Amino acid sequence: MSADRRIPVAILGATGAVGQRLVSLLDGHAWFRVAALCASERSVGRPYEEAARWFLPEPMPSFARGMDILPCRPGFDARVAFSGLDASVAGPIEEEFARAGCAVVSNSRNHRMDPGVPLLIPEVNADHLELIEAQKVKWRGGGFIVTNPNCSTVGLALSAAPLHRAFGIERLVVTTLQAISGAGYPGVASLDILDNIIPYIDGEEEKMESETLKILGSANRPASFGVSAQCHRVQVSDGHTLAVSLETAQRTTPGEATRVLREFRSSLGSLGLPSLPEQPIDVRDEADRPQPRLDRMSGRGMTVTVGRVRPCPVLGLKYAALVHNTIRGAAGASILNAEVLKAKGYL
Ligand code: NAP
Repeated sequence: MSADRRIPVAILGATGAVGQRLVSLLDGHAWFRVAALCASERSVGRPYEEAARWFLPEPMPSFARGMDILPCRPGFDARVAFSGLDASVAGPIEEEFARAGCAVVSNSRNHRMDPGVPLLIPEVNADHLELIEAQKVKWRGGGFIVTNPNCSTVGLALSAAPLHRAFGIERLVVTTLQAISGAGYPGVASLDILDNIIPYIDGEEEKMESETLKILGSANRPASFGVSAQCHRVQVSDGHTLAVSLETAQRTTPGEATRVLREFRSSLGSLGLPSLPEQPIDVRDEADRPQPRLDRMSGRGMTVTVGRVRPCPVLGLKYAALVHNTIRGAAGASILNAEVLKAKGYL
């Protein structure tokens, strides 16, 4: 596909932590061209290079530097609106774009649990896209909303999905160690997080408990096993670590669980999706992996790394998992969702 025939897209919340990742990952994308960068009134009218306090290690893409920030209102040429908006404002803005005929691909929590909105991990529940048809009627104009999960949930649901399919999860307990970038910019004050762990992230435990069941269920009925989450903020820049214990209906062994996790592949492999990792889950054998610094960029940040698959004396099986929170847990996930939408004819 030649450059000028790429699908025009907008980024809502383009100046934030997720927005910057979207700008970076969409630079030179084969299917999408960034046509609009939008943010709050504080940024509107300023060139992106001034409005965004860029903090990614790679340089700001040159296409974005001189683009003026637009208000988050429809009215420009964009078929897809990627949303990295603050949750306090995302709900009604995303609805406005859906009403205006846009495919809204959102990172925000606001519409994730709406029964008619897919909460998508393409490798796990692409069949939930069937919910879109009813949305097109609701919003008129052909628009709709698709969401990706909370940044910790995606690591949990993606790693648990093959185990649930193979053995049937009955109960699951997860403890998280979550990176600072998960709180956006400027996020947690340095005096709060340096030399410290904060055992509370507002709303995070509830999101992990409910979103995991929605993803692992059918389009209209969530899965029904018990999930208990405890979430902590730790002094890591990027990469959320999860310690998972679970009980399965059909007894299994660490060896068998490892095989199931390793063999897990997406059924979407033939679609040629640019952001689909070859391996959704990488299982490490070393006793001290996964580690955020070493493993977060696995599969260009889109692969969840699992390690330490072993017996749990209480629930049966336990493992550690690591997910890059702003790539697989946010921007990369929403780009993959948009790619699936295009490949399946929804755009
Ligand atoms: P952030 O760094 O605080 O960025 C928020 C963005 O929203 C900025 O672009 C900001 O623009 C814009 N915004 C704020 N108020 C606005 C308003 N009234 N009107 C229009 N735009 C407004 O937050 P973030 O970490 O990127 O998170 C963005 C969303 O993704 C949140 O809903 C978050 O829960 C979700 N999420 C984040 C992560 C992560 O790892 N960080 C992972 C998954 C999901 P200005 O710069 O102009 O203020």
